[in-house]
Amino acid sequence: MKKSLKLKMLLLTILPLLFLALVMLLVSFRCFRNTMVEEARTDMSNQCHLLEQMFERMYPGEYRIEVLDGDNYRLYKGDYDITSSEDILDNLKESYGDELTIYCRDTSVLTTMTDENGERALLGKVSPIVSAEVLDQEEERFYSDVTLEKEKYFAYYLPILWEDGTCFGMFAVYRSAESLQKSVYRALLPVALVYLLATMMIGLISISYSQQIVVRIRGLQRFLGALSKGRFDGELSHKYLQPEDELSELGRSSLLMQDSLRRLVECDALTELNNRRYGDNRLKKILDDAGIDGADCCVAIGDIDFFKKVNDTYGHDAGDEVLRQVSRVLKKHMAGKGFVARWGGEEFLFVFEKQDLQASVHILWEMLEEIRQMAIQSGTQEIHVTMSYGVTGAWKKATADELLKTADERLYTAKTSGRNQVVGE
Ligand code: GH3
Ligand code: MG
Ligand code: MG
Repeated sequence: MKKSLKLKMLLLTILPLLFLALVMLLVSFRCFRNTMVEEARTDMSNQCHLLEQMFERMYPGEYRIEVLDGDNYRLYKGDYDITSSEDILDNLKESYGDELTIYCRDTSVLTTMTDENGERALLGKVSPIVSAEVLDQEEERFYSDVTLEKEKYFAYYLPILWEDGTCFGMFAVYRSAESLQKSVYRALLPVALVYLLATMMIGLISISYSQQIVVRIRGLQRFLGALSKGRFDGELSHKYLQPEDELSELGRSSLLMQDSLRRLVECDALTELNNRRYGDNRLKKILDDAGIDGADCCVAIGDIDFFKKVNDTYGHDAGDEVLRQVSRVLKKHMAGKGFVARWGGEEFLFVFEKQDLQASVHILWEMLEEIRQMAIQSGTQEIHVTMSYGVTGAWKKATADELLKTADERLYTAKTSGRNQVVGE
């Protein structure tokens, strides 16, 4: 599916481009061909007229044919026998490259064309259409699809008229269609190359752009995938947030969503401390990271003394306010030392990192001292509370459950031996 997105983006760009290039090529081909055919027509017409004038100047008089026995004949113009005047036609052929033929009615009687044996291809006939349109209607004509000796030609026919207006035959010029086709292809080649290069360039730009988009989408997908599995520590690298566009906007929204979800899942709404779920996971992670030594890590559980009485005396809202204010103090004392989480109603978990038991006990006593001094306002009344703590240092291969159990047992000792104290052994 990941691949298909890239492929689809590529096809969406390349296919219309290829189609466009193909249409442009076809249009260009037609334009080139039409122009070249038009040029050929003018050129061939000029040759016909030139041929007519040359014979007229060299051999004044009317054309005439005298048929002898079999296929033999003599061709005359005025008093001149021009049966063997192919050299005039051959010279023109050399200059223009086209085949020339003189017809008596529809039969060739003088030509530059040769058959497969190298003999002059004489006595060939033109098609009935040419006969009807050129000889009968006495009009010069151009044809773009004449077949002679299995080859395709463009042909131009000019009728030869006697003085009385009747038609003796015609001059014909033939140009190979294949050579014209080749000229069109030659002219079209640079155009086709430009189209091809342009398509390839746009294709490459499109590939690199769609690649970038797909990479960014995959980055986002990985980030959101981790989030959906409840992992809130995923990071969205800067490269997925650049350049500024809808995708970077989506990336930023995902980061905000990560933050909101983390707060919803890992924070306690009343005290704004981390909750039990976070505390539990974090403690396990710290112990894992510390490895088998359990280096300098202490765990404590603290509980507000006689909190039920606070609720009973001042009301539940006042109890909430006590929880909020006590939490602020706990957080302040734990800053840079580890972390505190709300473990239950008025119970808190403390994890000290890189602090030995003595240092941890000391921090807890300082914390307790500040709580003792606090006067929490509730209406016109002031509420004073104390706390009890049970604390233990981590030992080799200690598990979170074992440490919590020991801390809990020490908290119980603190509670049963007068409360308002820290018990660390
Ligand atoms: P001890 O010194 O033995 O801990 O006595 P305690 O009264 O503090 O302990 P106990 O477990 O009997 O009472 C805890 C009380 O905390 C009971 C419960 O109503 C209250 N409590 C728990 N969560 C909240 C809360 O979110 N807000 C308020 N206002 N009270 C809460
Ligand atoms: Mg309590
Ligand atoms: Mg309690």
